[in-house]
Amino acid sequence: MNDKHITIAIDGPGGAGKSTVADAVAEKLGILHLDTGAMYRAFAFQALSEGISPDDEQGLSELAGRIEMDIAFENGAQRTIVNGKDVSDSIRTPEISFAASTCSKAGAVRRRMVGMQQALAKTRSMILDGRDIGTKVLTGATLKVYLTATPEERAKRRYEQLLQNGQKADYRNVLADVVARDHQDSTRAIDPLRPAEDAVIVDSTDFTQAQTVQAVLKLLEARV
Ligand code: C5P
Repeated sequence: MNDKHITIAIDGPGGAGKSTVADAVAEKLGILHLDTGAMYRAFAFQALSEGISPDDEQGLSELAGRIEMDIAFENGAQRTIVNGKDVSDSIRTPEISFAASTCSKAGAVRRRMVGMQQALAKTRSMILDGRDIGTKVLTGATLKVYLTATPEERAKRRYEQLLQNGQKADYRNVLADVVARDHQDSTRAIDPLRPAEDAVIVDSTDFTQAQTVQAVLKLLEARV
């Protein structure tokens, strides 16, 4: 497995379990997992810190031209660094989730992020999770999975995750956020969230995490 360059694309809506599943698959295969959502989150974090509104396309475009973003892997775990500062632990809030979704509508932001992701995936075997990996970033991926689950199940998982992280949460608000972000991500003009034509759709609503990981590994076996 390690001597052949492979790329795996996992797309799907927020809370479907993409990141956790991609982490487990990456570990199993001894490859890296690039969480592309973290890059849009880090971008949004920087925009907000500089007082640039996620709706200010010109401001975002200017920031996209000068932001320095580095991705490091520490024992396989991704660290996302913006202008020399590790922001990985500051980007997991509901505010940043929505701001990232709004910033990610801007063409200049997407071009910058997609370019970095493609360059990284060229260097070694990787599994990337996001919204446009199968349709834009890695159109020739070894395997494309579109991982989904019902909005209620995804909201439940997000809600439990927030509580676990010691953050305050209200299930109804989390569900409303999930639905609003799904809508924004799937209706944007550039590379909206949708399954690639050659993606395999995996519905994880009634799956444990281990079952979803098994399903992805099985799909990969048939392709390598
Ligand atoms: O996956 P995550 O929830 O961290 O992504 C945050 C936001 O970044 C998404 O709601 C989406 O708008 C955007 N995103 C994207 N393309 C990707 C990954 C994330 O537009 N490949």
